[in-house]
Amino acid sequence: MYFKNSRAEAVEELNQFIENNLLEYSKLRNFDFGPQKRDNTSCLSPYVTHGLINEVEIINKSLKKFSFVKNEKFIQEVLWRVYWKGWLELRPNVWADFLEELKSIKENFKNNKDYLNAIEGKTNIECFNEWVSELKRFNYLHNHTRMWFASIWIFTLNLPWQLGAEFFMKHLFDGDTASNTLGWRWVAGIQTQGKNYLATEWNIKKFTNNRFQNIKINEEATPKISEKSYSITQKSFTNPQLLENKILLIFDNNLSFEFIDFKCHNFKKILVVSSMNKERQIKLSNNTVNFKALLINDQLKRLKEKSIVAEVINISDLKNIKEPVYALYPTVGENLDYIQLNQLNNIEFIYREIDQFSWQFCNKGFFNFKSHIPKIVTRFN
Ligand SMILES: Cc1cc2nc3c(=O)[nH]c(=O)nc-3n(C[C@H](O)[C@H](O)[C@H](O)COP(=O)(O)OP(=O)(O)OC[C@H]3O[C@@H](n4cnc5c(N)ncnc54)[C@H](O)[C@@H]3O)c2cc1C
Repeated sequence: MYFKNSRAEAVEELNQFIENNLLEYSKLRNFDFGPQKRDNTSCLSPYVTHGLINEVEIINKSLKKFSFVKNEKFIQEVLWRVYWKGWLELRPNVWADFLEELKSIKENFKNNKDYLNAIEGKTNIECFNEWVSELKRFNYLHNHTRMWFASIWIFTLNLPWQLGAEFFMKHLFDGDTASNTLGWRWVAGIQTQGKNYLATEWNIKKFTNNRFQNIKINEEATPKISEKSYSITQKSFTNPQLLENKILLIFDNNLSFEFIDFKCHNFKKILVVSSMNKERQIKLSNNTVNFKALLINDQLKRLKEKSIVAEVINISDLKNIKEPVYALYPTVGENLDYIQLNQLNNIEFIYREIDQFSWQFCNKGFFNFKSHIPKIVTRFN
């Protein structure tokens, strides 16, 4: 399985999935049949993370094929990302604390044998080793496998979840601040406090079609405990009333700018912002860096085809722009950190409508968010 690197190809993957595999999605989605057979889930996450295709178009296309009732599970999954993002927007310190904790943990573990064996795929657990090499080679893991992987990392190998989250971010093509950080916290038992996710031998065997044998893992660990609690930060996600003729910045979470809400508004110029590893706290693998560069090039090419004035700019050059500019909101994560750390106060954010509307439902758990899904779908269909 290899990922494509243009919007046109991503849309084609989406269409193929809806046409051929969506019908059986809810029945088959939990199976990981291995990297050679990935058609039981959509494998769209690397594209959605980068905004190459977006949640609204996925949901609307799926609803053209099947009713909401037949599609409900898939739509819920697509909206998990929006939920996690909104949840983190309301509690941005969860991300800041994760980065802070990671710094000291990394220092303490830099020569730790168990950690080094884990990231080299040299543990005593065959399936885990296989997943490490799959992650490095294909830059993707199935959702169920991410859960097993994280559970084994935390509860059998006894490694800090923060190091695992960093390892995923480094290699995943869909690496996403919210889904990844909160996914790891959830497995550890600190997201839904007191409730951890424990991988079991029978579950792994069943949902991998018995591809692995002899899985000796800790199935009885108790949840991790965090002393930190996070209250909700009041934030406003309001867009400017009238968009003036200014420069627009787009980051690598919105690389299909011309297809979202405000379409090709008359902006003076579009700057597509790229970040190098030296500007990132979490250093990405070469594969991931190259993947992002290809997606950014594709965005630039599409803008130029529409005769929109556009160029790529490195994030460190934003400091040289003194005039007021707009930016499609990069969401909590490294790009936003950079803007805030460097006090780039000339940037005014523009939010996606789906986020503006949905994030109000992210103050509680996903169960509560789920009850608002029909409302969200109706509004954007
Ligand atoms: C520990 C852990 C770390 C994770 N890290 C990331 C990450 O960095 N980036 C990321 O995009 N997803 C992450 N996920 C969520 C999920 O594993 C992937 O989104 C999913 O595997 C992508 O495969 P797919 O496109 O075939 O999903 P499908 O099953 O086809 O789902 C359709 C779409 O729904 C969204 N989606 C599905 N499940 C989830 C979920 N649990 N959370 C958020 N969105 C979801 C994705 O956009 C996906 O493309 C993580 C999950 C765990 C348990």
